[in-house]
This record gives sequence, structure tokens and C-alpha cells, in this order.
Amino acid sequence: MKILLIGSGGRESALAWKLSQSSRVDELFIAPGNAGTAEYGTNLKIESNNLLALNEFALKEMVDLTVVGPETPLAEGIVDLFKGNGLKIFGPEKKAARLESSKIFSKNLLNKYEIPTAKYESFTDPEKAVNYIKSEALPLVVKADGLAAGKGVTVAMTEEEALVAVEKIMLDKKFGDAGSKIIIEDYLEGEEATILAFCDGKSIKTMPAAQDHKAAHNGGKGPNTGGMGAYAPAPIVNGDIELKIKERIIEPTLEALNTEGIDFKGIIYFGLMINGDEVKVLEYNARFGDPEAQVILPLLETDLIDIIEAVLNEELDNIEITWKDRKALCVVMASGGYPVKYKKGFEITGIKETESTEDMIVFQAGTRLEKDRLLTNGGRVLAVTALGNSFKAVINKAYAGVEKIHFEDFQIRNDIGHKAVK
Ligand code: AMP
Repeated sequence: MKILLIGSGGRESALAWKLSQSSRVDELFIAPGNAGTAEYGTNLKIESNNLLALNEFALKEMVDLTVVGPETPLAEGIVDLFKGNGLKIFGPEKKAARLESSKIFSKNLLNKYEIPTAKYESFTDPEKAVNYIKSEALPLVVKADGLAAGKGVTVAMTEEEALVAVEKIMLDKKFGDAGSKIIIEDYLEGEEATILAFCDGKSIKTMPAAQDHKAAHNGGKGPNTGGMGAYAPAPIVNGDIELKIKERIIEPTLEALNTEGIDFKGIIYFGLMINGDEVKVLEYNARFGDPEAQVILPLLETDLIDIIEAVLNEELDNIEITWKDRKALCVVMASGGYPVKYKKGFEITGIKETESTEDMIVFQAGTRLEKDRLLTNGGRVLAVTALGNSFKAVINKAYAGVEKIHFEDFQIRNDIGHKAVK
């Protein structure tokens, strides 16, 4: 098969790595990819949001299957476009991708179907939003309705912070049209977990739970990032909580989609907040998480192409998906100053040394090749991933891997996975 993978981050490196292992894949193209994905296939000079050029390429090259990594092309309707041209593509149609592309849409769905989530109000008028903030107890969480690359959410501990967030989103239009509507919701205490699930519109199958580390600095301090590390399977999701998530969240979500006439084929990402025996939905996404994919995909035994075909053919119920009985953990090496302000173009060394250890994979994200030199090219640069039989082992292994890699002014968190050991 000829496969086209869309995207350029660490998630796409993990997808390219997994897809390239399939005996059914003859050729893999990545648009645009990064220096790391070039080791698993052929990078194309087509950006992931250039839907027309992607469509033209897939038609011309007679691509058998396209896999979409990031949310933006999904929200813009790449699946509808490809299907309209008779091309096979894995991901939700535009209407279904609203689960992620509109927070108001997803919160209304959660509310209508009584799936537990934080109390919220939506606003199109900044003045009404300000009045609401003044009348509610703090902390509050202010969110842009549309896609904002994970930066549209402010957890406001003070009234001032909440007001500044409204101003930035609605008046300064920091996220453009994505911020013409906002929601303000109650702050939820607890521990976060992510559950990813394959969904063919009729049935849904979950993957091992993962935990991401969103804050930039140790101990959960500093600004929110795309994610500084992750591990799976997350021990917090077990027993009663696991059952509760299935019965109160996963299954009702599929039922809600069906009742609304939304045929979701792809990956549903459930962002959850767990507090004791209570669990609530923080958000839905309509694709693999990044960096969750970097720890989930290495645990997947089944051929990803087989699962994707089962989803597209509505035969998910008939396929057995198997997972390694191991732990996976990744430490993200980011550019110093990320997510606020950082420099690019520093040389990266040591990846081969790290990867020469068994069960270590370095998934590249913000990297590019200049002649033979590997250079940093983004905020999150690498995800150093280890597999092993205990969390203690994978923590030691991943950090030993990080020690062998160098680029100027890199930034990591030193506490990835500590909660799993506790
Ligand atoms: P979201 O994109 O909605 O998942 O928000 C991004 C991050 O903001 C989440 O992963 C949480 O860390 C935090 N967050 C969002 N909503 C809430 C909430 N209601 N209470 C506490 N933290 C939140």
C-alpha cells in the first residue's frame, strides 16, 4: 500500500514509525514531516493545511490510504474533500471533528447527554463575560471556542487573570476567529488522564490510559505547553474509575454522537479530570494526542493499518487489538524558553547513541536537516521514549537517554512519571 501521513510533529514521528513497521506498507509519504520522519519514509514539501495540494498529490500518486495527524486539516474538512474524490482517509469528517474544533459544541453535547463535565457558560459578548467573572467564585477557566494550538485556555486563579484572558481572546483577537466566542467554566481539582479510543461510528475501543505533563516546569509549574512528557498505562485509571469512565463517559459519548447523527470514524481523545472516585471530561480531541501517541503507539502490537481498515469498514468490533504488557514513558526535550520565546537552529547530537540502547526510541518533532547537520526547528524538539517493565525502569532509562543528547539551551522536566511511581 501507498500511505500518506499528514503532519510534522512528534506524534507524526510516532505514527510514521508504527506505520513503517507494517508489512502491508510499501511506500510512506509524510507531508511535510520533520528530519526524523525522513528515516521512515519520504517527506513532501506540502504543508499539512494545504488541503488542495495534499488532495492533488494523493490523486496523482494513487495513494491507497491517508492518515491525518493534526487537528487543523480535520477541522477544515480534509476528510470530506478526500472522500469526495474517492480517496480513502482516516479521521473524522468536518462535522464530527467539531468535537474538538468547537468547545461550545462539545460542552453542549456533554451537557445535553449528561456526561460529567465542569459547569460552564458560553459568551459572544465580552461585557457579559466580564459580568459573569465578577459574579462567580474563583478560580475560573477561560477558553477560546475554536482551535488555538492548545494555547486558548487560561486557568485564572484571580479575577484579574480571568479578565485579561477575556480581553486577549475577545478584544485583542489573539487567536483570530477562534476567539469570537468563549466559554468560562468552573475550575476542576484533581489529576488529569487521557484516554484515546478508536471509533468506527458503531463501536469504540479504548487504548491504554496515558498521562501527559502539560506545564512547562517541574511540579506542574509554569505556563501550559503542548506537553513536556507522558507515560502509559496510567495507573490512576484502574478498577472502579476505569469502569466509571467506560459507563459514564466513553459509551455515552458514542451514543450521543449517534443520536446527533454524527458518524465519527477515527480517534476520540478523552481529556479527563479524576478526583477521588469522580471523573469529568475536560475536553475532547479528534485525533491522537501529542505526546500521548509517543507512548501509546510503542505499546501497540497489532498492525495499525489493520485497525484503520477495520474502522473505515465499520468492523472494529471484529478485530482484536493487542497491547504489550509493558510501560512506556517519554521525556520531551524542548528549546529553552518554550512555550514563550525560544531560539531555533542549534545543532543536535547524540540521538544515535541513545537509540543504540534496546527499547529506546527518539521521536523527533521540531527538527530539520541542513546538509548533514541536524538542527532544532521548533519548541518541542524531541521525545526521548523508553519501554520497560516498571515505571522506575523507564524513568531511569529515558533520562539516561536524555543525558546522551545535546543541543544548546535545551529544557526538560525532571519529574516525568513520578506520580506513576507513587
Ligand atoms: P483543554 O484544552 O480544554 O483540555 O485545556 C487545556 C488544559 O487546561 C487542560 O489539560 C487542563 O490542564 C487545564 N484545564 C482545562 N479546563 C480545566 C478545568 N475546568 N479545570 C482545571 N483545569 C482545566
